[in-house]
Amino acid sequence: MNKALLEVEHLKKSFGGVTAVDACSFTVDEGTITALIGPNGSGKTTAFNMITGYLKADSGTIRFHGETVERPRPAGLYRRGLSRTFQQARIFPELTVQENLVVAAGYTWRQLFGRRVSAEDAQRSKAMLAEFRLDQLSDLVAADLSYGQRKLLEFAAVLMSNPRLVLLDEPTAGVNPVMIDAMERHIRERNRAGVTFLIVEHDMQLVMRLCDPVIVLDQGSRIAFGSPEQIQSDPRVLEAYLGA
Ligand code: ADP
Repeated sequence: MNKALLEVEHLKKSFGGVTAVDACSFTVDEGTITALIGPNGSGKTTAFNMITGYLKADSGTIRFHGETVERPRPAGLYRRGLSRTFQQARIFPELTVQENLVVAAGYTWRQLFGRRVSAEDAQRSKAMLAEFRLDQLSDLVAADLSYGQRKLLEFAAVLMSNPRLVLLDEPTAGVNPVMIDAMERHIRERNRAGVTFLIVEHDMQLVMRLCDPVIVLDQGSRIAFGSPEQIQSDPRVLEAYLGA
């Protein structure tokens, strides 16, 4: 029996007259790669932003690892094991690839440039670079990476905090097919190593082969939840996507 790692209950957010997320509830069980899908404007990004503390919810509760998160703040959640990526990778463009990973392990820039990084963390960042096949690029400034490489670097950086739950916001949007394969492989490997994922992704083929279960939002509410097979044959989902 899986254990709920993230529980979202009656989460709500309006912008002026627009209800972006409307009393939305769902759970993410430990050990899963869960997808959060839905048509454009269905509230996925707003839900992500509330869960990760980038946006304040109007109402509702978020529980992580059995504890209610009273005032979600990105840094606090990061320390508790909940990390995220962004549609446009957020990395430090002026730092090298390796320095990005060291900073993500919790070092300040002062410690980084004062060479006060522990041998263990230096080694961990090297191992992560090798795992992500970024080792050839480790001394390049991140600004010089391709779009897809930046997304990989952001993912690797997020993993430096040893998260239990990672929210990935469109991890393969705009990246080439080789990079999509690499991203998929890394997600699977890390999931096997114990990391739980919640993924917003528009590539339905990828969602259907990688994720289980799938949560479907429409107009801010959850309209379906189940295995990829169940979702694909759910008339409410077809209606939401196709307006049928
Ligand atoms: P999705 O990620 O599923 O495309 P969003 O969460 O971005 O959906 O948007 C849900 C709804 O909320 C949309 O109608 C969108 O226009 C609206 N919305 C999102 N963010 C804002 C904002 N900052 N100000 C006003 N409306 C917003």
